[in-house]
Amino acid sequence: MNHLPVSEPPRVPLCRAGTPLEPLRRVGETLGVELYVKRDDMTGVELSGNKVRKLEYLFADARAKGADTVLSCGGAQSNHCRATALCATRLGLRSRLLLRTPDPTHPPAIEGNLLLDRLAGADIVWVTPDEYRARAQVFARESQALKQEGRVPYVIPEGGSNDLGAWGYIRAAFELRRDLEALPGGAGKPTTLVCAAGSGGTSAGLILGVKLARLDARVVSVNVCDDRATFVRAIGEICEAAIRTYRMTDLTFDRARDVEIQDGFVGRGYALSRPEELALLRDVARAEGLILDPVYTGKAFYGMTQLLAADRRALGERVVFVHTGGIFGLFPKAEEMAELL
Ligand SMILES: *Cc1c(COP(=O)(O)O)cnc(C)c1O
Repeated sequence: MNHLPVSEPPRVPLCRAGTPLEPLRRVGETLGVELYVKRDDMTGVELSGNKVRKLEYLFADARAKGADTVLSCGGAQSNHCRATALCATRLGLRSRLLLRTPDPTHPPAIEGNLLLDRLAGADIVWVTPDEYRARAQVFARESQALKQEGRVPYVIPEGGSNDLGAWGYIRAAFELRRDLEALPGGAGKPTTLVCAAGSGGTSAGLILGVKLARLDARVVSVNVCDDRATFVRAIGEICEAAIRTYRMTDLTFDRARDVEIQDGFVGRGYALSRPEELALLRDVARAEGLILDPVYTGKAFYGMTQLLAADRRALGERVVFVHTGGIFGLFPKAEEMAELL
């Protein structure tokens, strides 16, 4: 099957799709696998990363509903919020971002993604970690305030991760099918896709996309926060919602079988790094000229190398690491990295 299902919802083109699939020969040889990287850090320059794939569908929906302002949320250095702010501005919409910070009276320095949010003209609402946990209330309050000003708000959930956003990586799986066809062994050779999981939408889209595109592939997600049970539930819910909403009736999905989470690599916590993770990021940069990010791809890559060091066959012969972007999150870590350089 080469075509996306007829139930594919409308999409606004925002992403530089057709990203390269490149071999990582030196690192692959060290790890003992045939290793490739899907360069979704190249979906754009300022739009770099996985979020723009999801936003193509979410912005189409926002427009169809007549929205003039999108709201979304994330950490202070959220890649998703940066992509949302830039896409909004490109489409002539406004954006309001709920960003998490320990003390809203002392917001973090304007650097990395936050600098780009500000350049794009996003309104920023700082929220505490407690408020963030109850963000449905903050979204309701901010939406109400916007309506009172005569504006039409549209809420994009954390990470753009819902049944609609999942289409970004359903589409990417069809793209991967074409990439794999060009490799030795073709698309029929069993492949393991490895990605970072933060809000679960990328993993959910890939899991469904692999089935719809009839790829012989496992999707292994390395969680960068929370735990395995949380992600099995979150990814399971997105997959099940998408199957219902878009009537993917001939597709069988089972959480316990299809959602593979490699827990154990959260380390010091979300967006916090361990020296060994940063050292690997440096080593990959020096071996391959490939830049990972400290919050997501660096941790997922670290997890992948640990699994393969313990058992070279843990992920099969052919492995595709999905590089989901995040480069701007590296710059606020410059000081922490300096001693490793
Ligand atoms: C958001 C993000 C992820 C995680 O994707 P989810 O769909 O939220 O699980 C991975 N890598 C980067 C760079 C991200 O910004």
